[in-house]
Amino acid sequence: MNAVVLFAAGATRWPHWEGPLRKALADAGVAADLVTEAAPERVDFIVYAPSGDTPPDFTPFTRCRAVLGLWAGVERIVGNSTLTQPLCRMVDPGLTQGMVEYVTAHVLRLHLGIDALLRAQDGRWNHEAPALAGDRPIAMLGLGALGAACAQALVGLGFPVMGWSRRRKDLPGIECHHGRAGLKTVLKRAQIVVTLLPATPQTENLLNTETLGWLPHGAAIINPGRGNLIDDTALLAALASGQVGQATLDVFRVEPLPQGHPYWQHPKVTVTPHIAAETRPATAAAVIAENIRRGLAGQPLLHQVDRQAGY
Ligand code: NAP
Repeated sequence: MNAVVLFAAGATRWPHWEGPLRKALADAGVAADLVTEAAPERVDFIVYAPSGDTPPDFTPFTRCRAVLGLWAGVERIVGNSTLTQPLCRMVDPGLTQGMVEYVTAHVLRLHLGIDALLRAQDGRWNHEAPALAGDRPIAMLGLGALGAACAQALVGLGFPVMGWSRRRKDLPGIECHHGRAGLKTVLKRAQIVVTLLPATPQTENLLNTETLGWLPHGAAIINPGRGNLIDDTALLAALASGQVGQATLDVFRVEPLPQGHPYWQHPKVTVTPHIAAETRPATAAAVIAENIRRGLAGQPLLHQVDRQAGY
């Protein structure tokens, strides 16, 4: 009997996903009925992305073996008490590549002072070469699928990279730290801070008045992680005092970022509209299909969320 796979990730996404998912399921040798509607008690797997404000009720999905998220971040579903099945998040080569491109582009932009060069087309010949990457220490907060890939890419460009994670890590070429003391060590030396942490109660307002104060004066922040990581009032104060020289923000507590928010017009802030990295059906469909294959074969699922840790 074919497995019933319910695509519950929104009608607008379905046209982009249907073809890649059908192909990936066939490539993985999975006999499945991929549908957008089904009686809940017939559904074996749910392919899921949050939509709307109402949390879904998973209670009627009595035979569902796993919920397979299309997003890397799971803060909108991880606390859902009706979800008793395993929850998997997305780790997708296309998504990772997008994040590496976003982070390296914005690090290089800040490192080379490209904004100032673009503003300075006034006929004056100000011959001053920028520092080399080796003189620009970078803090990577979060060393997971995305943080580690971005850190490795920056190391490849010659930047000294200090990484910070919840648990102790050992990654080639990266000075790894963890815990509160590790955070201070990393921030105290960082000229550019990249935040690639999940939204959990533990990461809420991680960058606040105290921790921003640990940075060298004028350091820059790049946040493609989640809006909750930054205490916005503290960041605005740090930008006003010059403690933080520049902030590039892709994610916000409220999205879309409301018109009139101080970030929009701030001369030291670049707002990007949550476009740092997107799950790409062409590569991610294979991850979903592999997890369905594993689920049916009784094998451990890939990228299962630790519900206790919240990511
Ligand atoms: P991941 O693989 O789960 O990695 C998360 C990292 O954060 C891990 O290194 C983890 O430490 C660390 N961490 C978690 N809680 C921590 C804490 N309390 N203290 C210190 N470190 C902590 O996640 P990912 O795939 O790299 O994605 C990271 C985040 O990027 C996602 O959660 C999502 O919010 C965001 N994201 C944004 C976009 C965008 O377009 N802007 C796109 C995709 C994802 P351990 O290694 O010790 O577990």
